[in-house]
Formats: sequence, C-alpha cells, structure tokens
Amino acid sequence: MSTGIQIRSLNKSYGALHVLREIDIEVDPGAFTVLLGPSGCGKSTLLNAIAGLDDVDSGEIVIGGVDVTDTEPSARGLAMVFQSYALYPTMTVRRNLSFGLRVNRTPQAEVEKRVAWAADLLQIRELLDRKPGQLSGGQRQRVAIGRALVRDAKVFLFDEPLSNLDAKLRTEMRVEIKRLHQELGTTIVYVTHDQIEAMTLATRIAVMKGGQVEQYADPQTLYEKPATLFVAGFVGSPA
Ligand code: ADP
Ligand code: MG
Repeated sequence: MSTGIQIRSLNKSYGALHVLREIDIEVDPGAFTVLLGPSGCGKSTLLNAIAGLDDVDSGEIVIGGVDVTDTEPSARGLAMVFQSYALYPTMTVRRNLSFGLRVNRTPQAEVEKRVAWAADLLQIRELLDRKPGQLSGGQRQRVAIGRALVRDAKVFLFDEPLSNLDAKLRTEMRVEIKRLHQELGTTIVYVTHDQIEAMTLATRIAVMKGGQVEQYADPQTLYEKPATLFVAGFVGSPA
C-alpha cells in the first residue's frame, strides 16, 4: 500500500521574497515525482515543507489522506536523504544505519532485521563494520540512503542526493535508485537540477521556475509538448 501526497495552494515567503507561489501538486501513490528546476527556484523549500522542516504561510499538505500541514516532521511518516549526507564519523556503518531506530526504541531483533534488509538491498553488507572515513563517496551515499530505508517510511524524500558524486557514480546510483523504487514501490519525491536525472528517474516531473510550477507532467509529455518556452529549453537541452 503506497501513500499519495496532495499539495494545495502552497505559499511561502522569506521576508519580501515569495519563494513558493500557489504550488499545486498531486503525487500518486507509488509515483516517482521529481521537482526539477534551476538553483534557487524553490525546490528544497518545497521538499522541506513536505517534510515539515519549514513552515508555510498558506496552503495544505496532505499525506496518505491526512492533513499534515501543522504536524511535526517525525509524525509525517517520511524519510529524507539530503545532499550532504552527514554520516556519524565515529560510528560504524551498522550503527549509522540503526541509530534512528534505536532512538525510536525499536526492539533489537527488529533493528537487526531491518539493517540486514537494507544492507542487502543496497549491497553494502560487507561494509557494515567500517567507519564512514573508510568508504568511497558512492558507498557513503548508499549508507545515507540505507539510513532512510531502515525507517520503514511511507514516503522517501531526496534532495539532490547525487550531486556530490562524480559523473560515473552518479549514473550508477541513478540506476540503483530506480531499481529500489521498482522493488519497493514506495512513493518518492526527488529534487534535482539535473534534467537527465529527472528524465530517467521520474514517472512525473514538476518543472519549477521562480517559486512556481511551470508544468507538471510525465517525461514524454514534457519533452513532446512543453507548456512554456522555459520548459522546452530546460528539458530539451542536456546539462
Ligand atoms: P533550490 O533548492 O531550488 O535551489 P531553495 O528552495 O533552496 O532553492 O531556495 C529558494 C529561494 O529561497 C532562494 O532564493 C533562496 O536564496 C531563498 N531561501 C532559501 N532558504 C532561505 C532562508 N532560510 N532564508 C531566506 N531565504 C532563503
Ligand atoms: Mg536545493
């Protein structure tokens, strides 16, 4: 059972800067939705609003049929992977993966089961006793994704998770994330400024510009029937 998200008439300003303007997005259960747009267009602000890390000025966020607009982040059933995937440097990979579960007082047997499951899925089983300093960039990013996976979330939120990786790793991890989505069927909202990443991963893309959604459609429609010149230029020309 996957979870859908409805975002209705969302607005947010930082002082005089109107960062999110009347955002309306409907994320189908199990969809891979990408928020795509140039730097500064409001992608992270929107993702943080969904996560509850940022307040909004008006509008509604509904997750799994429940209005969570004023709900604490921890009660929204989400797991987030950030661009700067700060792992705990003194803890082993195993501890990094289980840390959030321990804080939540998940029973030990369940913690071990979930860590083993995520480690298998991400092919990091042989890394469990290492520390982050002994891992490559790609391996660290796998651990960061694993940390979100073990939390058994209804929705995964990714904020430019691959932008710190080199081109080769980025391609590899793209394939990996796509596979994860296909295997798990979990709803994903994924932020990137990389058109190729968006076009290969998404079932649906919200192209953003200046705090607004210019077009919200599947990759093929965006490519064949761009609604604006901006969309045409943005998804038409590779990064
Ligand atoms: P993106 O993730 O698309 O690069 P952001 O959502 O981070 O864009 O930022 C959107 C706009 O809001 C930018 O102009 C940014 O400078 C501004 N902004 C983001 N966070 C803050 C903040 N905490 N205070 C003031 N302005 C902010
Ligand atoms: Mg951002």
